[in-house]
Amino acid sequence: MKILVVNAGSSSLKFQVIDMTDESVLCKGVCERIGDKESFLNYTKGDKKFKIDYAMPTHKEALMFLLETLVNPEIGVLSSLDEIGAVGHRVLHGGEDFDKSVLVTDDVLAKCHKNEPLGPLHMPSNILCMEILKDLLGKPQVAVFDTSFHQTMPDYAYRYALPDEDYKEMKIRKYGFHGTSHKFVSKIASELMGTERFNLITCHLGNGASLAAIKDGKCIDTSMGFTPLEGLVMGTRTGDIDPSVIGIIMKKRGYSDVTEFVNTYLNKKSGLKGLTGDSDMRAVTELKENGNDNARLALDMFAYRVKKYIGAYAAALNGVDCLVMTGGIGENSGAAREMILENMEYLGIILDKNKNATTRGKVELISTPESKVKVYVIPTNEELVIARDTYSFVK
Ligand code: ADP
Repeated sequence: MKILVVNAGSSSLKFQVIDMTDESVLCKGVCERIGDKESFLNYTKGDKKFKIDYAMPTHKEALMFLLETLVNPEIGVLSSLDEIGAVGHRVLHGGEDFDKSVLVTDDVLAKCHKNEPLGPLHMPSNILCMEILKDLLGKPQVAVFDTSFHQTMPDYAYRYALPDEDYKEMKIRKYGFHGTSHKFVSKIASELMGTERFNLITCHLGNGASLAAIKDGKCIDTSMGFTPLEGLVMGTRTGDIDPSVIGIIMKKRGYSDVTEFVNTYLNKKSGLKGLTGDSDMRAVTELKENGNDNARLALDMFAYRVKKYIGAYAAALNGVDCLVMTGGIGENSGAAREMILENMEYLGIILDKNKNATTRGKVELISTPESKVKVYVIPTNEELVIARDTYSFVK
């Protein structure tokens, strides 16, 4: 069976078609700059890459163009859309309604609509894609929530110390994100450790970044919060910050609307980008190598924040047995991993510096035999989790 995986962002739409007989990726791509004048599709089939300009004022046009492309006799991978057995959707927010993936029904869609205010930038496009494909393909659809893995957190970890009614009336709390990734690498870690009963810290370090503390396979804390803004220093996000600065900066920088300030300034103009002008770890690393002190500072801040969270989660878990690095930075940047994990012998983390420096994009143990904590690099694959979850409902 072939499964279409759809991951709708606020202005993008990522997709893959996966053949579940061998879990091979038949094609993948991303519609970018949806809603912009210059929208286009980046499409990869095998080793061939295509960039196709196409007007996509909304996610609807993007989806229609994607389906057209999949059956395009020249570059497509399907002879008819009927070959798609099911569709798996990454859905940003499950609120408190979903602690696992579900078959999309009218009731599920109604709950997603109810949770729209929790993810105002992503949820409308997530829901739109599910609704359009429901009518268009008439195939089973499965919603895989970025938040559901974190629903096992205890209340003292997920509540904010705000007046009680803010939680009761508005469900203001920590939800956590990147759940499919944390879950995927934690499963592989459990296979490598040969047990399900161990204390694990997973570090998903990409453009967005978060940590999770996982006890016996269950998440007990995570660094992102009500939205993905909380926690680590990220590509364009501040992470943790004292909210008292907001009013001061807004006044000086001419913002009158707090929502706009949070969505643009704190989410898109801060983090590595705010500190150095560039959000990409490779570019910032290069700047540092060329002597740029802002880049040095940004990388120090990035690594220090991760280190502090590891310490916090080691305490929350009452000790760590295993630590996993994943995401674009966690999988590929030996330099970032070393900055984070050096000088942590007290916690039982001893990095094998040579192995760390040469490991990129593959499963590898990068701690020394003496290290009490086993440190692994494990590449994540969120699309595969979504495809597997979807397949489990329909096979
Ligand atoms: P997203 O959150 O957008 O899915 P990714 O998980 O793809 O992001 O991670 C993107 C980040 O990974 C970027 O900051 C990029 O610079 C970084 N990255 C990718 N490859 C390398 C590398 N070889 N060395 C350092 N950083 C890398």
